[in-house]
Amino acid sequence: MPGRSRLSFDLDVDIAVVGAGLAGLTVALEAARLGASVAVLEGRHIGWNASGHQLGTVMPGFGLPIGELIARIGFEDTRELWALSREGAEYVRATASEELIPGIALSEGALEVSNVEAGDQLISRLQMLGEDFETEVEGWQVDRVRAELKTDHYFHGVYYPKAFQIDGRKYVHGLAALARRAGARIFEDTPVVSIDPSGIRKRIVTPSARLRASHIVLAGNVHLGAPLRRLSETLLPVWRYAAVTAPLGERLAEAITFRGSVTDTDGIDHFRIVDGDRLMWASPETTWAARPERFAGAIQRRIRAIFPQLGSVGIAEVWGGAVGQTVHGMPQIGQLRRGLWVASGFGRQGLNTTAMAGQLIARSILWGDERWRLFSPFELVWAGGTTGRVAGHVIGMWERGSSAAAGALARYRERARVQERIREARLAEANRQAGTRPPLRHPPPGRPRPQRTRPPANPAEGEGAS
Ligand SMILES: Cc1cc2nc3c(=O)[nH]c(=O)nc-3n(C[C@H](O)[C@H](O)[C@H](O)COP(=O)(O)OP(=O)(O)OC[C@H]3O[C@@H](n4cnc5c(N)ncnc54)[C@H](O)[C@@H]3O)c2cc1C
Repeated sequence: MPGRSRLSFDLDVDIAVVGAGLAGLTVALEAARLGASVAVLEGRHIGWNASGHQLGTVMPGFGLPIGELIARIGFEDTRELWALSREGAEYVRATASEELIPGIALSEGALEVSNVEAGDQLISRLQMLGEDFETEVEGWQVDRVRAELKTDHYFHGVYYPKAFQIDGRKYVHGLAALARRAGARIFEDTPVVSIDPSGIRKRIVTPSARLRASHIVLAGNVHLGAPLRRLSETLLPVWRYAAVTAPLGERLAEAITFRGSVTDTDGIDHFRIVDGDRLMWASPETTWAARPERFAGAIQRRIRAIFPQLGSVGIAEVWGGAVGQTVHGMPQIGQLRRGLWVASGFGRQGLNTTAMAGQLIARSILWGDERWRLFSPFELVWAGGTTGRVAGHVIGMWERGSSAAAGALARYRERARVQERIREARLAEANRQAGTRPPLRHPPPGRPRPQRTRPPANPAEGEGAS
């Protein structure tokens, strides 16, 4: 990486972007490509938070389940938003090519697995995604899922052949390099301490210089802080932790043959194989910042709970980052007042959604594209301050607990069904050997069933109309 440069002189630009994460860098790259003069101001360094610590899985859609989205804004608008989210994923695919970002290691396919038996829901989900939302999907039966992931924790699965994964850290630095190449200037160690958004030319103050711009894009996620505290308070910060294991050799290949990313429908575990025989795994969450190393044991136990055959795996590296969760679960994308833009609240699914936001905002500023207004129904809602964080933590724990309970119940039912089948087979065999007939559960075929007569509702009916 080139040495960091700090903003140490006053500057005038068309567009100032606060934050060099995925969102800020995509706005900067797109706006610079469209010919604007752009400066990105980053308080620490490129990819310092979640953007430099994600797992690189690129899926269509949003953190909010599609059914809830339809219930909130209706079918047609959901279809349009979904199409935008797919375009976001395609943008990442086009940008994450070996020519543009060498070593990006793009690989195809992602699998979403269910923690409980949900065959019926799966069919309607597949139909909706495939037919109504034009997303290529395959339904995997339990046997197929378990042939690829040798665990009884998962049941059915939805396979997305067009989803993919990349080296997430390379991507964020690759975006920065492309933005610079397109003419954007990126200043690190440059925290924005205050913003005056009034007037045609808006003003930004940093510790060592001032900047004036016609447009300001706030892409600071949960760390925006002082410059617009009320905006930061519409996000619930959730720190998510991930680890990569030591090499696991052959035992990993025996436990997992699927090569893409795996996520569960409850959003608890997210993993994939990296470097041939290591597991990369994200799971624990807190609503306060903690040292990631503290979660090595929790991730190790989680891997063992899902894949007991792997035993106690060695952990090589642990990291974490804060994602911004909105109250309604959808990202914050749009214009707060003339020339003041927001791009944040991307939650756990930030790769396709930040790409979409970057394009929408740059095109709106430079081309007048108004499609960002599809996000207008999702207003800025206060996330509840400290109480909101405590509540968020409790809800998160409860959701994980109830998901674990539902999973355990589903596995118990499955075992009980298998045992019942074995018992019945043994009984049938014993009866066959003894020459006895099994006790009848149902009337034998052929014998007429006793007819139940319905008392006539109208006494005249029973007597026959004459
Ligand atoms: C462990 C983990 C795994 C994940 N895996 C995936 C995945 O596989 N796929 C996926 O789609 N998503 C994933 N995500 C989610 C994704 O990483 C985020 O949604 C995304 O990175 C958010 O990007 P952002 O640009 O909004 O925020 P950030 O990455 O937080 O960037 C914001 C930047 O703004 C800067 N900033 C803030 N305030 C100021 C200020 N006042 N002045 C100057 N600079 C400021 C910060 O320093 C920071 O660098 C994962 C997240 C985590 C934590």
